[in-house]
Amino acid sequence: MTLQPYACDPAQSRGRRFAEPAAPTRTEFARDRDRIVHSTAFRRLVYKTQVFLNHEGDLFRTRLTHSLEVAQLGRSIARTLKLNEDLVEAIALAHDLGHTPFGHAGQDALNACMAEHGGFEHNLQSLRVVDDLEERYPQYNGLNLSFETREGILKHCSRTNAKHLESIEPNGVAERFLEHSKLRSPSLEAQLCNLADNIAYNAHDIDDGVRSGLLSLEQLSDCSLFETYRLESLSQYPQLTGRRLLFEAIRRMLSAQVYDVIAATSANIEQTQPQNTAQVRQSKPMVTFSEPMRMQSGELNRFLFANLYRHPQVMETTERAQNIVVDLFAAYCNDPTQFQFDEKTSTVSLHRAVADYIAGMTDRFAAREHERLTGQKVFITS
Ligand code: MG
Repeated sequence: MTLQPYACDPAQSRGRRFAEPAAPTRTEFARDRDRIVHSTAFRRLVYKTQVFLNHEGDLFRTRLTHSLEVAQLGRSIARTLKLNEDLVEAIALAHDLGHTPFGHAGQDALNACMAEHGGFEHNLQSLRVVDDLEERYPQYNGLNLSFETREGILKHCSRTNAKHLESIEPNGVAERFLEHSKLRSPSLEAQLCNLADNIAYNAHDIDDGVRSGLLSLEQLSDCSLFETYRLESLSQYPQLTGRRLLFEAIRRMLSAQVYDVIAATSANIEQTQPQNTAQVRQSKPMVTFSEPMRMQSGELNRFLFANLYRHPQVMETTERAQNIVVDLFAAYCNDPTQFQFDEKTSTVSLHRAVADYIAGMTDRFAAREHERLTGQKVFITS
């Protein structure tokens, strides 16, 4: 299939940090995706929390299944818009590699621990994983991914961190976060992954929320996007109840958002007429919802925030998870021999090494380490 001139072309890639000969059968972005799938950090996503802790149930989303859903949505949309599917897939599968155990609770706790030492931010950590932390190749640290994949992984970046990255890699992936940068957007493939992430978690968190018993279908009637498709499902299948009604409403809601993104983005592209990726990067984001869908998606997001992410039962586990991270951080800083830190060979500070180590943990490994170091059993895990 011929892609659009404003799609990322692997033959025109800005390349890898360490030059490598081309692969005989795969494009550069397909190769990036394959490296991500084979990485250690990718396998850890199986045991990392999305919203519900891994041991709370076998059917809740984890970071891994979330990432697969983002990749699926992203690929479908990319194919229709004639953007690069391999690149979308690579970015989607890597976008959460830097997440700590215990989801956002873990990230907030680790960021607080690192307040005096440069902070902790999961997007930047995802980039650190693929640039520095994976140890798989004889010649370099990290996975040596191409610029376009790394650009997509670095979704947000503080100005301080951007300046630091730019000092190591001039005109690199952090350039667009600098004050005087002319760049306004990443590639369309990267923009698409952001939106696919949003569509995926809004939908699967409804499913997981209802499955957990913390959300009810009645409550969800407050949410216009879901309610529209619940009523539409019932008008076609009046007997539908329970899970099948939930799934049918979510399925229709997902399709509506996908078609909305395709239509709105096509209209934005038609209006802006980018001729190449350079023009995409100098324009405001073009992969968007229509305005009405943006409002409805925002409403759903606020609904989930108020009723699920801030649910007392979720908050209670959140607090316990944060204590684990805080205790682990203190324990490793006090006694670096507990995690094989070697000051003489380390290229980063003790605090950063501790943050990298904790961020890489799965939920259950963090809970086990916490028990080993403090003697407390915070969660019952097997
Ligand atoms: Mg995500």
